[in-house]
Amino acid sequence: MSLAADRASRSLRLTALTKEFATFTAVRSLDLEVPAGSFFALLGPSGCGKTTTLRMVAGLEVPTSGSIHLGDDEITYEKPYRRPVNTVFQNYALFPHLDIHENVAFGLRRRKVKDVDRQVKEMLALVELESQAKKKPPQMSGGQQQRVALARALINRPEVLLLDEPLGALDLKLRRAMQIELKRIQTEVGLTFVHVTHDQEEAMTMADTIAVMNGGVIEQMGSPAELYENPRTTFVANFLGQSNLIAGSVASAEGDVVRVDMHGNQVSIPAERAHARSGEGWVGIRPEKVLLAPAGEPIDAPGNHLTGGIVTDVSFVGVSTQYLVQMPWGQELMAFEQNTGRRAVLAKGTKVDVSWRPEFSFLLPASQDVN
Ligand code: ATP
Repeated sequence: MSLAADRASRSLRLTALTKEFATFTAVRSLDLEVPAGSFFALLGPSGCGKTTTLRMVAGLEVPTSGSIHLGDDEITYEKPYRRPVNTVFQNYALFPHLDIHENVAFGLRRRKVKDVDRQVKEMLALVELESQAKKKPPQMSGGQQQRVALARALINRPEVLLLDEPLGALDLKLRRAMQIELKRIQTEVGLTFVHVTHDQEEAMTMADTIAVMNGGVIEQMGSPAELYENPRTTFVANFLGQSNLIAGSVASAEGDVVRVDMHGNQVSIPAERAHARSGEGWVGIRPEKVLLAPAGEPIDAPGNHLTGGIVTDVSFVGVSTQYLVQMPWGQELMAFEQNTGRRAVLAKGTKVDVSWRPEFSFLLPASQDVN
Protein backbone atom coordinates (compact mmCIF):
# COMPACT_ATOMS: atom_id res chain seq x y z
CA MET A 1 0.00 0.00 0.00
CA SER A 2 1.33 3.38 -0.88
CA LEU A 3 0.69 5.53 2.12
CA ALA A 4 1.63 8.66 0.23
CA ALA A 5 -1.30 8.08 -2.17
CA ASP A 6 -3.70 8.46 0.74
CA ARG A 7 -2.50 11.78 2.03
CA ALA A 8 -5.32 14.04 3.14
CA SER A 9 -6.26 16.74 0.67
CA ARG A 10 -9.37 18.26 2.26
CA SER A 11 -9.41 20.50 5.27
CA LEU A 12 -11.81 19.94 8.17
CA ARG A 13 -13.94 23.00 8.93
CA LEU A 14 -16.20 23.58 11.91
CA THR A 15 -18.51 26.58 11.63
CA ALA A 16 -20.44 28.05 14.57
CA LEU A 17 -20.59 24.52 15.99
CA THR A 18 -22.69 24.37 19.14
CA LYS A 19 -23.77 21.57 21.45
CA GLU A 20 -26.27 22.01 24.22
CA PHE A 21 -27.18 19.32 26.74
CA ALA A 22 -30.55 20.42 28.15
CA THR A 23 -29.77 23.90 29.51
CA PHE A 24 -25.97 23.44 29.54
CA THR A 25 -23.89 24.61 26.58
CA ALA A 26 -20.87 22.28 26.29
CA VAL A 27 -19.56 23.75 23.00
CA ARG A 28 -20.37 27.32 22.07
CA SER A 29 -20.25 28.52 18.46
CA LEU A 30 -16.90 27.00 17.64
CA ASP A 31 -15.15 28.12 14.44
CA LEU A 32 -12.00 26.38 13.33
CA GLU A 33 -10.26 25.04 10.28
CA VAL A 34 -7.84 22.13 10.42
CA PRO A 35 -5.57 22.16 7.35
CA ALA A 36 -5.37 18.89 5.40
CA GLY A 37 -2.52 16.70 6.59
CA SER A 38 -1.80 18.64 9.75
CA PHE A 39 -1.50 17.51 13.36
CA PHE A 40 -4.06 19.53 15.28
CA ALA A 41 -4.54 19.46 19.07
CA LEU A 42 -7.62 20.47 21.04
CA LEU A 43 -6.16 21.36 24.42
CA GLY A 44 -8.01 22.31 27.57
CA PRO A 45 -8.97 21.34 31.11
CA SER A 46 -11.45 18.63 31.98
CA GLY A 47 -15.00 19.55 31.01
CA CYS A 48 -14.12 22.30 28.50
CA GLY A 49 -15.88 20.54 25.62
CA LYS A 50 -12.98 18.82 23.78
CA THR A 51 -14.51 15.35 23.67
CA THR A 52 -17.94 16.68 22.73
CA THR A 53 -16.34 18.52 19.79
CA LEU A 54 -14.51 15.37 18.69
CA ARG A 55 -17.70 13.28 19.00
CA MET A 56 -19.56 15.71 16.76
CA VAL A 57 -16.84 15.35 14.12
CA ALA A 58 -17.05 11.55 14.45
CA GLY A 59 -20.84 11.65 14.14
CA LEU A 60 -21.39 10.23 17.62
CA GLU A 61 -23.09 13.41 18.83
CA VAL A 62 -25.54 15.55 16.83
CA PRO A 63 -24.75 19.28 16.96
CA THR A 64 -27.45 21.62 18.25
CA SER A 65 -26.44 24.09 15.52
CA GLY A 66 -23.55 24.91 13.20
CA SER A 67 -21.89 22.79 10.55
CA ILE A 68 -18.99 20.44 9.83
CA HIS A 69 -17.36 20.31 6.39
CA LEU A 70 -14.64 18.22 4.81
CA GLY A 71 -13.46 20.35 1.91
CA ASP A 72 -16.69 21.40 0.15
CA ASP A 73 -18.75 18.50 1.50
CA GLU A 74 -20.97 18.99 4.50
CA ILE A 75 -20.92 16.01 6.90
CA THR A 76 -22.76 17.55 9.87
CA TYR A 77 -25.56 14.97 9.87
CA GLU A 78 -23.82 12.13 8.01
CA LYS A 79 -23.95 8.71 9.69
CA PRO A 80 -20.70 7.92 11.57
CA TYR A 81 -19.77 4.96 9.36
CA ARG A 82 -20.25 7.03 6.20
CA ARG A 83 -17.70 9.63 7.30
CA PRO A 84 -14.05 9.23 6.23
CA VAL A 85 -13.19 9.63 9.89
CA ASN A 86 -11.92 7.11 12.47
CA THR A 87 -11.40 7.46 16.21
CA VAL A 88 -8.76 6.05 18.54
CA PHE A 89 -9.94 5.99 22.14
CA GLN A 90 -7.97 5.92 25.38
CA ASN A 91 -9.17 2.41 26.26
CA TYR A 92 -7.95 0.86 22.92
CA ALA A 93 -11.17 -1.24 22.51
CA LEU A 94 -9.28 -4.24 21.07
CA PHE A 95 -10.73 -7.76 20.84
CA PRO A 96 -8.89 -9.75 23.53
CA HIS A 97 -9.50 -13.17 21.94
CA LEU A 98 -8.13 -12.19 18.50
CA ASP A 99 -4.41 -11.92 17.77
CA ILE A 100 -2.93 -8.60 16.71
CA HIS A 101 -3.01 -9.41 13.01
CA GLU A 102 -6.71 -10.26 13.17
CA ASN A 103 -7.52 -7.25 15.34
CA VAL A 104 -6.08 -4.99 12.65
CA ALA A 105 -7.66 -7.05 9.83
CA PHE A 106 -11.13 -7.05 11.40
CA GLY A 107 -12.68 -4.07 9.61
CA LEU A 108 -11.27 -5.03 6.21
CA ARG A 109 -12.47 -8.64 6.51
CA ARG A 110 -15.97 -7.47 7.35
CA ARG A 111 -15.95 -5.26 4.28
CA LYS A 112 -14.63 -8.23 2.25
CA VAL A 113 -11.64 -6.22 1.04
CA LYS A 114 -9.02 -8.12 -1.01
CA ASP A 115 -5.39 -8.38 -0.07
CA VAL A 116 -6.05 -8.00 3.65
CA ASP A 117 -2.97 -9.83 4.94
CA ARG A 118 -0.55 -7.71 2.93
CA GLN A 119 -2.22 -4.50 4.10
CA VAL A 120 -2.15 -5.64 7.72
CA LYS A 121 1.56 -6.48 7.48
CA GLU A 122 2.33 -3.05 6.07
CA MET A 123 0.30 -1.36 8.77
CA LEU A 124 1.99 -3.38 11.53
CA ALA A 125 5.35 -2.40 10.03
CA LEU A 126 4.31 1.26 10.20
CA VAL A 127 3.62 0.98 13.91
CA GLU A 128 6.69 -1.26 14.39
CA LEU A 129 4.82 -4.34 15.58
CA GLU A 130 5.52 -6.81 12.73
CA SER A 131 7.14 -9.28 15.09
CA GLN A 132 4.16 -9.24 17.48
CA ALA A 133 1.43 -10.21 14.97
CA LYS A 134 0.59 -13.52 16.65
CA LYS A 135 0.27 -12.12 20.18
CA LYS A 136 -3.07 -11.36 21.76
CA PRO A 137 -3.78 -7.94 23.33
CA PRO A 138 -3.56 -9.08 26.97
CA GLN A 139 0.03 -10.23 26.30
CA MET A 140 1.08 -6.74 25.24
CA SER A 141 2.05 -3.56 27.05
CA GLY A 142 -0.23 -0.52 27.10
CA GLY A 143 1.95 1.28 24.55
CA GLN A 144 1.87 -1.70 22.20
CA GLN A 145 -1.89 -2.02 22.51
CA GLN A 146 -2.23 1.65 21.72
CA ARG A 147 -0.19 1.13 18.54
CA VAL A 148 -2.45 -1.76 17.55
CA ALA A 149 -5.48 0.49 18.05
CA LEU A 150 -3.78 3.08 15.84
CA ALA A 151 -3.01 0.51 13.12
CA ARG A 152 -6.60 -0.69 13.24
CA ALA A 153 -7.91 2.85 12.75
CA LEU A 154 -5.39 3.77 10.04
CA ILE A 155 -6.01 0.66 7.93
CA ASN A 156 -9.48 2.01 7.11
CA ARG A 157 -7.69 4.89 5.40
CA PRO A 158 -9.69 7.68 7.02
CA GLU A 159 -9.05 11.24 5.87
CA VAL A 160 -9.20 12.38 9.44
CA LEU A 161 -8.05 10.44 12.47
CA LEU A 162 -9.50 11.55 15.79
CA LEU A 163 -7.52 10.72 18.92
CA ASP A 164 -9.28 11.11 22.27
CA GLU A 165 -6.65 11.22 25.04
CA PRO A 166 -5.04 8.15 23.42
CA LEU A 167 -2.01 8.22 25.70
CA GLY A 168 -3.86 8.95 28.93
CA ALA A 169 -3.50 5.42 30.33
CA LEU A 170 0.27 5.19 29.76
CA ASP A 171 2.98 6.01 32.28
CA LEU A 172 4.99 9.16 31.75
CA LYS A 173 8.03 7.58 30.06
CA LEU A 174 5.95 5.54 27.65
CA ARG A 175 3.72 8.53 26.97
CA ARG A 176 6.74 10.61 25.94
CA ALA A 177 7.98 7.85 23.63
CA MET A 178 4.51 7.44 22.09
CA GLN A 179 4.20 11.19 21.50
CA ILE A 180 7.25 11.10 19.26
CA GLU A 181 6.02 7.88 17.67
CA LEU A 182 2.58 9.32 16.90
CA LYS A 183 4.12 12.39 15.32
CA ARG A 184 6.40 10.21 13.17
CA ILE A 185 3.45 8.11 11.98
CA GLN A 186 1.33 11.17 11.24
CA THR A 187 4.13 12.70 9.16
CA GLU A 188 4.61 9.41 7.32
CA VAL A 189 0.96 8.83 6.44
CA GLY A 190 0.12 12.51 5.84
CA LEU A 191 -3.41 12.23 7.25
CA THR A 192 -5.13 14.90 9.29
CA PHE A 193 -4.87 14.07 13.01
CA VAL A 194 -7.10 15.79 15.56
CA HIS A 195 -5.83 15.01 19.02
CA VAL A 196 -7.68 15.80 22.24
CA THR A 197 -5.63 16.25 25.40
CA HIS A 198 -5.50 18.18 28.66
CA ASP A 199 -1.69 17.84 28.74
CA GLN A 200 -0.02 20.99 27.42
CA GLU A 201 3.37 19.35 26.99
CA GLU A 202 1.81 16.59 24.93
CA ALA A 203 0.02 19.08 22.67
CA MET A 204 3.18 21.17 22.26
CA THR A 205 5.35 18.14 21.44
CA MET A 206 3.11 16.85 18.68
CA ALA A 207 0.84 19.47 17.20
CA ASP A 208 1.43 21.85 14.30
CA THR A 209 -1.52 23.88 15.56
CA ILE A 210 -3.17 23.97 18.98
CA ALA A 211 -6.64 25.29 19.82
CA VAL A 212 -6.86 26.07 23.53
CA MET A 213 -10.42 25.49 24.77
CA ASN A 214 -11.99 26.79 27.95
CA GLY A 215 -15.65 26.68 28.94
CA GLY A 216 -16.85 25.53 25.52
CA VAL A 217 -15.05 28.21 23.50
CA ILE A 218 -11.65 28.52 21.84
CA GLU A 219 -9.51 31.03 23.72
CA GLN A 220 -6.68 31.05 21.19
CA MET A 221 -5.38 29.06 18.27
CA GLY A 222 -1.85 28.98 16.87
CA SER A 223 1.44 27.14 16.70
CA PRO A 224 2.86 25.91 20.01
CA ALA A 225 5.50 28.67 19.92
CA GLU A 226 2.94 31.41 19.17
CA LEU A 227 0.71 30.36 22.04
CA TYR A 228 3.59 30.02 24.47
CA GLU A 229 5.41 33.23 23.52
CA ASN A 230 2.42 35.44 22.78
CA PRO A 231 -0.67 34.35 24.73
CA ARG A 232 -3.71 36.59 24.37
CA THR A 233 -5.38 35.62 27.60
CA THR A 234 -4.26 34.89 31.15
CA PHE A 235 -5.88 31.46 30.81
CA VAL A 236 -3.66 30.57 27.83
CA ALA A 237 -0.60 32.09 29.54
CA ASN A 238 -1.15 29.91 32.61
CA PHE A 239 -2.31 26.75 30.83
CA LEU A 240 0.73 26.58 28.56
CA GLY A 241 3.34 26.77 31.27
CA GLN A 242 4.33 28.97 34.14
CA SER A 243 4.16 32.71 33.89
CA ASN A 244 4.95 35.72 36.03
CA LEU A 245 2.04 38.14 35.73
CA ILE A 246 2.82 41.54 37.21
CA ALA A 247 0.23 44.32 37.59
CA GLY A 248 0.94 47.54 35.74
CA SER A 249 -0.75 50.43 33.99
CA VAL A 250 -0.23 51.55 30.40
CA ALA A 251 1.72 54.84 30.24
CA SER A 252 1.84 55.16 26.46
CA ALA A 253 1.01 53.15 23.36
CA GLU A 254 2.65 54.64 20.30
CA GLY A 255 4.24 53.03 17.28
CA ASP A 256 5.52 49.56 17.89
CA VAL A 257 6.08 49.85 21.65
CA VAL A 258 3.72 50.01 24.60
CA ARG A 259 5.20 51.42 27.84
CA VAL A 260 3.86 50.24 31.15
CA ASP A 261 4.37 51.69 34.63
CA MET A 262 5.00 48.88 37.07
CA HIS A 263 5.55 49.59 40.74
CA GLY A 264 7.76 52.62 40.09
CA ASN A 265 9.56 51.15 37.07
CA GLN A 266 8.73 51.59 33.40
CA VAL A 267 8.97 48.61 31.03
CA SER A 268 8.44 48.22 27.28
CA ILE A 269 6.34 45.61 25.49
CA PRO A 270 6.37 45.13 21.70
CA ALA A 271 3.01 46.28 20.26
CA GLU A 272 2.30 42.87 18.68
CA ARG A 273 2.39 41.32 22.15
CA ALA A 274 0.41 44.03 23.88
CA HIS A 275 -3.19 42.85 24.15
CA ALA A 276 -4.17 45.88 26.21
CA ARG A 277 -3.50 49.43 24.96
CA SER A 278 -4.71 51.52 27.87
CA GLY A 279 -5.61 51.28 31.53
CA GLU A 280 -4.51 48.49 33.83
CA GLY A 281 -2.91 45.29 32.65
CA TRP A 282 -0.81 42.25 33.47
CA VAL A 283 2.76 42.19 32.22
CA GLY A 284 3.66 38.57 31.54
CA ILE A 285 7.13 37.08 31.48
CA ARG A 286 8.05 33.40 31.42
CA PRO A 287 10.37 32.35 34.29
CA GLU A 288 13.12 31.07 31.97
CA LYS A 289 13.30 34.51 30.32
CA VAL A 290 13.97 36.29 33.62
CA LEU A 291 17.61 37.22 34.34
CA LEU A 292 18.86 37.79 37.87
CA ALA A 293 21.92 39.79 38.83
CA PRO A 294 23.25 40.65 42.30
CA ALA A 295 21.95 44.13 43.18
CA GLY A 296 23.99 46.95 41.71
CA GLU A 297 25.99 44.77 39.31
CA PRO A 298 25.79 45.97 35.72
CA ILE A 299 23.25 44.00 33.68
CA ASP A 300 24.48 43.22 30.19
CA ALA A 301 21.09 42.43 28.64
CA PRO A 302 19.26 45.47 27.29
CA GLY A 303 15.70 45.95 28.32
CA ASN A 304 13.34 45.92 31.21
CA HIS A 305 14.67 46.19 34.77
CA LEU A 306 13.16 45.91 38.22
CA THR A 307 15.23 46.60 41.31
CA GLY A 308 14.93 45.60 44.95
CA GLY A 309 14.38 41.81 44.73
CA ILE A 310 15.45 39.31 47.40
CA VAL A 311 15.98 35.60 46.66
CA THR A 312 13.60 33.72 48.98
CA ASP A 313 13.88 30.20 47.60
CA VAL A 314 16.41 28.23 45.54
CA SER A 315 15.64 24.78 44.05
CA PHE A 316 18.13 22.71 42.11
CA VAL A 317 16.26 20.69 39.45
CA GLY A 318 19.09 19.23 37.37
CA VAL A 319 19.08 21.19 34.11
CA SER A 320 18.08 24.39 35.86
CA THR A 321 17.98 26.23 39.14
CA GLN A 322 14.61 27.69 40.03
CA TYR A 323 14.49 30.85 42.12
CA LEU A 324 11.70 32.66 43.89
CA VAL A 325 12.39 36.37 44.21
CA GLN A 326 10.35 38.59 46.49
CA MET A 327 9.77 42.06 45.04
CA PRO A 328 9.30 45.24 47.12
CA TRP A 329 5.52 45.17 46.50
CA GLY A 330 5.29 41.70 48.05
CA GLN A 331 4.87 39.57 44.90
CA GLU A 332 7.17 36.57 44.38
CA LEU A 333 8.53 36.19 40.85
CA MET A 334 9.86 32.93 39.40
CA ALA A 335 13.20 32.85 37.60
CA PHE A 336 14.56 29.65 36.01
CA GLU A 337 18.23 29.67 35.13
CA GLN A 338 19.94 27.00 33.03
CA ASN A 339 22.72 25.22 34.92
CA THR A 340 25.48 25.98 32.46
CA GLY A 341 28.09 26.22 35.21
CA ARG A 342 28.97 29.72 34.04
CA ARG A 343 28.24 31.30 37.38
CA ALA A 344 27.67 30.33 41.00
CA VAL A 345 24.15 29.68 42.21
CA LEU A 346 22.71 32.71 44.01
CA ALA A 347 22.13 32.05 47.69
CA LYS A 348 18.87 32.56 49.52
CA GLY A 349 18.75 36.11 50.89
CA THR A 350 20.80 37.62 48.02
CA LYS A 351 19.60 41.06 46.93
CA VAL A 352 19.00 40.97 43.19
CA ASP A 353 17.88 43.04 40.23
CA VAL A 354 15.50 41.40 37.81
CA SER A 355 15.62 42.01 34.07
CA TRP A 356 14.38 40.65 30.75
CA ARG A 357 14.41 41.54 27.10
CA PRO A 358 11.24 43.45 26.10
CA GLU A 359 10.52 41.09 23.20
CA PHE A 360 10.03 38.22 25.64
CA SER A 361 7.20 39.86 27.54
CA PHE A 362 3.50 40.28 26.78
CA LEU A 363 0.68 42.45 28.11
CA LEU A 364 -2.81 41.19 28.96
CA PRO A 365 -5.92 43.14 30.02
CA ALA A 366 -6.35 43.49 33.77
CA SER A 367 -10.00 42.50 33.41
CA GLN A 368 -8.85 38.89 33.06
CA ASP A 369 -8.51 36.66 36.07
CA VAL A 370 -4.92 35.66 36.87
CA ASN A 371 -5.68 32.31 38.47
P1 ATP B 1 -12.58 15.54 29.78
O1 ATP B 1 -11.15 15.83 29.46
O2 ATP B 1 -12.85 15.41 31.24
O3 ATP B 1 -13.16 14.42 28.96
P2 ATP B 1 -13.79 17.39 27.95
O4 ATP B 1 -13.13 18.71 27.74
O5 ATP B 1 -13.58 16.36 26.91
O6 ATP B 1 -13.40 16.85 29.37
P3 ATP B 1 -16.56 17.01 27.47
O7 ATP B 1 -16.55 15.55 27.72
O8 ATP B 1 -16.69 17.47 26.07
O9 ATP B 1 -15.32 17.71 28.14
O10 ATP B 1 -17.76 17.64 28.33
C1 ATP B 1 -18.04 19.02 28.31
C2 ATP B 1 -19.17 19.32 29.28
O11 ATP B 1 -20.37 18.75 28.78
C3 ATP B 1 -18.95 18.71 30.66
O12 ATP B 1 -19.40 19.62 31.62
C4 ATP B 1 -19.82 17.48 30.66
O13 ATP B 1 -20.29 17.18 31.95
C5 ATP B 1 -20.95 17.88 29.72
N1 ATP B 1 -21.50 16.71 29.01
C6 ATP B 1 -20.84 15.90 28.17
N2 ATP B 1 -21.64 14.94 27.67
C7 ATP B 1 -22.86 15.14 28.25
C8 ATP B 1 -24.15 14.49 28.14
N3 ATP B 1 -24.32 13.45 27.35
N4 ATP B 1 -25.16 15.00 28.87
C9 ATP B 1 -24.99 16.08 29.66
N5 ATP B 1 -23.82 16.75 29.79
C10 ATP B 1 -22.78 16.29 29.09
